[in-house]
Amino acid sequence: MTGVPATPLRLTMDGDALVANWRALDRLSGAARAGAAVKADAYGLGARRVVPLLAGAGCRDMFAAHWAEAADLLDLVDPRRIAVLHGPLRGEDVDFARATGVRPVINSLEQAARWQQAGGGACDLMVDTGMNRLGVSLADLAELSGLQIDVLHSHLASGDEDGPLNALQLARWQAARGLVSHDRAALANSAGIVLGPAYHGDLTRPGLALYGGVARQELAGVIRPVALPQTALLQVRQIAAGETVGYNAAFTAPAPMRVGTVALGYADGYLRCWSGKGMLRDAQGASLPVLGLVSMDLTIVDLGHSPHSKEGDWLDVDYDLPRSAAMTGLSQYELLTGLGRRFARASE
Ligand SMILES: *Cc1c(COP(=O)(O)O)cnc(C)c1O
Repeated sequence: MTGVPATPLRLTMDGDALVANWRALDRLSGAARAGAAVKADAYGLGARRVVPLLAGAGCRDMFAAHWAEAADLLDLVDPRRIAVLHGPLRGEDVDFARATGVRPVINSLEQAARWQQAGGGACDLMVDTGMNRLGVSLADLAELSGLQIDVLHSHLASGDEDGPLNALQLARWQAARGLVSHDRAALANSAGIVLGPAYHGDLTRPGLALYGGVARQELAGVIRPVALPQTALLQVRQIAAGETVGYNAAFTAPAPMRVGTVALGYADGYLRCWSGKGMLRDAQGASLPVLGLVSMDLTIVDLGHSPHSKEGDWLDVDYDLPRSAAMTGLSQYELLTGLGRRFARASE
């Protein structure tokens, strides 16, 4: 039997940086403990390799969005440490939670009734304090009774900005804490952690910053990059002045050039917004600008500063999250979670 050949794309994760980021966020959370949002396959990095590293560092509470995401982690951590943010939409969600011990986050009176009718048990509660996305509204809290609430959550709409909504949501969350009994309370995502101790409660829920995102300026210099996309050079060619490269001839060589084609395209999440803007690097750190339009599986780069690069070489993709977000108009979240399934997820 011959094996499957290696993919020409890899997403290298710096596990030490991931752990250092969790520790920094846990420290910044003061008296509260930092948990971790591991939804969307740990923001694209691979939840099955992220979760054991975080658990080993002392992270207790993990947040998935879907039930299937929780199911994928059951052999890695105590299921009672996993909570599902979308909550129980159907009876099968309730059955799964009760059978495994995974905590549902109750988001509506309907979800509360569904949980209690099945016999209930430990759950979390999401209270809407102004985002109008998921959660029981403050006015409806009085209709809840008998829920066995571990964590009372709310979620900030604009933690990454300074504005009146943060203080308003904080006040409403504090009011909710006075209305329903609970063991622990949580409000802050990555950005919310640096808004100060009032936002910490007992538990914080960082996601983006764990994976190298700089959610607010205060975290610059604290948070280390975690994700490094790399791609293989498939072909090198010499072109003459006046020749064009790629679809729609979007780039014309002003002089004779050495160009290379790499195995990375918009199907991998390297979207067309990188056309004419992105940058790759060779092993010596030389910069290799993207030429013309990104295509589905391929991108063409200028090898002028990399005279020795050759077919088969691995190249790094410049993917500094705050800088990339500013350049492309994509959010740091989209930049991470958009990296596609063709990347082999590897650890450093
Ligand atoms: C995704 C999510 C988080 C994590 O937010 P970041 O901005 O990535 O830190 C926290 N809480 C809830 C409810 C979420 O949905």
